Amino acid sequence: MTSYSDCVFCRIINREIPSDIIFEDEQLLAIADIDPAAPVHLLIIPRDHISSLNGVDIANQNLLGHIQIISARLAQEKGVAVSGYRLVCNNGNDGGQTVLHLHYHLLGGRELRWPPG
Ligand code: AMP
Ligand code: ZN
Repeated sequence: MTSYSDCVFCRIINREIPSDIIFEDEQLLAIADIDPAAPVHLLIIPRDHISSLNGVDIANQNLLGHIQIISARLAQEKGVAVSGYRLVCNNGNDGGQTVLHLHYHLLGGRELRWPPG
């Protein structure tokens, strides 16, 4: 399992910096975003340091499916499954990625605009 001491999400996973952990299992953590963009804003973060979707391959197939299944469960638990929500993965500069450790935003609790800016 790759981990980097200069990566904020690796440090959260290693309990080196605090976060509001909503869920965790052997493959991933779900935490509350520190700067929420919606009433529900979770980050689903694989334990393994993969920089972005550019770093995944077929060996990550199970993990990527697991992320969506857990996200759907979290949406249910947070009460946005019926009202609606969005699962977003920003990649690279143009994608707006600021933390270079693969993660998915689960956003809900208000009407979200489309297309995004
Ligand atoms: P992205 O722009 O897709 O890379 O998203 C990074 C997200 O991580 C942003 O929504 C930040 O608010 C969030 N974030 C950064 N640092 C922390 C932290 N220490 N705890 C929780 N969320 C964080
Ligand atoms: Zn990392």
